[in-house]
Amino acid sequence: MSQRVRGIGMTSERTRLRMVERLRASGVRDAAVLGAMAEIPRHIFVDEALASRAYDDVSLPLGHGQTISHPLTVARMCELARAGGPLGRVLEVGTGCGYQAAVLSKIAREVFSVERIGALLEQARVRILRELKLRNVRMKLADGQEGLPEAAPFDAIVVAAAASAPPAALAEQLAPGGRMILPLGTQKQRLCLIERSASGLIDNMLEEVHFVPLRSGTLR
Ligand code: SAH
Repeated sequence: MSQRVRGIGMTSERTRLRMVERLRASGVRDAAVLGAMAEIPRHIFVDEALASRAYDDVSLPLGHGQTISHPLTVARMCELARAGGPLGRVLEVGTGCGYQAAVLSKIAREVFSVERIGALLEQARVRILRELKLRNVRMKLADGQEGLPEAAPFDAIVVAAAASAPPAALAEQLAPGGRMILPLGTQKQRLCLIERSASGLIDNMLEEVHFVPLRSGTLR
């Protein structure tokens, strides 16, 4: 493991384990999610100048006007996606820096992650594939509002940017029993859980969250 991945001081495993303890204290119960977050070095996903703050309970800028999600938000979304059981195929919309995709790679068999900003995707590829060698993550430059029909259906879809309504294509790509977790709303946002049951789609509005907006098209 490289020195950068291993970390030191504020980027060390000890600091990361303290973050995990705070997540547990905040109500995250799923041991698989806590284990994944104990394992993935969050500091390599942020700018080197911000690495010492990577394990703080904050969202941080990652360039191009985007942010790396708050650790508790990542934990909650992963916990809702898992619903206490193993996950097969997962789609993430909004790779950003790649942190959540890396965490998902530890709790799902296969992760597909799409991002609309080419420069962010390239950086995420380096971190996930080259630095961490997580082989079960596939990334693509695409407008995630269309989902990823070639890899559907998904057991879970996690959306990391807020829309005013759930994109129709995404719900169609949920497997039977599948779950989609997405932030909904423009000013005030709430996390929404949509489940595909035998009788149709069931949705639940959960806690308030803050995400960047879901946008259309791609930027190379
Ligand atoms: N998952 C990240 C958070 C990313 S922030 C983490 O681990 O912290 C949200 C990301 O969604 C941004 O990078 C933004 O460019 C991207 N995004 C916004 N709209 C999108 C769309 N329609 N398709 C794909 N990505 C989108």
